[in-house]
Amino acid sequence: MRTAVVVGAGIAGLATAGALARTGWKVTLLERDDRLRASRAALVLWPNGVRALRALGLAGGLDSISTPVPPAGIRRPDGQWLVRPGASDLESPPVVVHGEDLHDAFIAGLGDQVDVRGGVEVQSARVTRERPAVGDGRVTFEADLVVAADGADSAVRRRILAATTFASAGFAAWRAVIPWYRAPQLPPDLPPHGETLGAGHRFVYTSLGEQGGSTRGGISWVATVPGALRPEPPAGQLALLRRWFAGWHAPVPQLLAETEPDDLVQEPVGELAPLPETFGVPAGPGGYALVGDAAHAMPHHLAQGACLALEDVATLQAVLVNGPLGPALQEYNRRRRGRVSRVLVQSRKVGAALQPKSRLAGLGRARPGVFDKAAVAATEWAGPTG
Ligand SMILES: Cc1cc2nc3c(=O)[nH]c(=O)nc-3n(C[C@H](O)[C@H](O)[C@H](O)COP(=O)(O)OP(=O)(O)OC[C@H]3O[C@@H](n4cnc5c(N)ncnc54)[C@H](O)[C@@H]3O)c2cc1C
Repeated sequence: MRTAVVVGAGIAGLATAGALARTGWKVTLLERDDRLRASRAALVLWPNGVRALRALGLAGGLDSISTPVPPAGIRRPDGQWLVRPGASDLESPPVVVHGEDLHDAFIAGLGDQVDVRGGVEVQSARVTRERPAVGDGRVTFEADLVVAADGADSAVRRRILAATTFASAGFAAWRAVIPWYRAPQLPPDLPPHGETLGAGHRFVYTSLGEQGGSTRGGISWVATVPGALRPEPPAGQLALLRRWFAGWHAPVPQLLAETEPDDLVQEPVGELAPLPETFGVPAGPGGYALVGDAAHAMPHHLAQGACLALEDVATLQAVLVNGPLGPALQEYNRRRRGRVSRVLVQSRKVGAALQPKSRLAGLGRARPGVFDKAAVAATEWAGPTG
């Protein structure tokens, strides 16, 4: 039986561990946290991400945990339209999913064949003629395949592809889900999804619908502001967010008023520089595969990071079906790196429109269509065998 060690139990790691276990691999999943925790944030899944979930056999219950996201357009803080919502050219609308609902689906997909080890922070990875191995300073885990799913600051990537580092884009982002019992009722004249840009700041909210069945419901929002991560405790960060977005059109201040410090997740915004030279590194008779943010962390302008992670996993599963691992990892890299580079180009185009200090100047230069075109281009994915 072929063996795999998956490092990191975020979306990419959980999906990989389940996919490999379901196709007959003996899998050990290592996570530095003491237990597997769901993200408290929500995610937009674009049609490519949904297709990847389907290829992984995990889309079965998606309809019951997701809510379609209608085109939002873009407003100014005073509520005036910068870009009015138009008809979408996407094959199907994106959907929004609560991180905890998605986590539940991935945990169910692990089955009982995965050996989950919490409290293991991988620090070393060896690339020699021997089988790949990672270690936390106490225990060494050796396998035919090691999958680096340990996020943007991947320790495994640092050991095997040291030229790549995470470079800040000069922004910090906050995500939160206001649970259904605290979420303000959106007035009928407000759409369930909205995006607002104003001098260096961006706020996007999305309703997760009513609580019920298998959905948790609530309202999700993402705020992006220029500058470094804030060192204040969450209550101080929330106070700053309320000040920065005071006076913005409804429902922005109302959503921040109903948010509690424990709802907040603060994250850096940036991308890997340079993109790793390969996503598959042969080592001895086996090798390493990079998936998710460990392979291609990028700013959330297009909200594609998790979707790309799911594409990675579906592709890895497809190339590993038969044959020796070395050529399979080369094929994985061939199918993924070009695709990711193309999405990165679209993401940078959108970022160039969003990032200037004066958003109005930026949007004027970039033309409104840049967002829709980039979103459509980013969702074009040939599938795991493409
Ligand atoms: C503000 C914001 C909004 C976003 N919105 C969207 C969206 O709407 N749609 C979308 O598709 N994407 C979105 N993204 C991107 C998406 O969140 C990420 O791409 C995705 O979560 C990456 O998942 P991952 O599993 O690769 O990494 P992570 O979620 O970072 O998981 C890495 C895991 O590895 C563990 N780990 C780290 N180091 C070690 C170690 N040394 N040893 C053991 N374990 C380790 C961590 O504890 C963690 O559990 C957004 C990102 C941001 C910042």
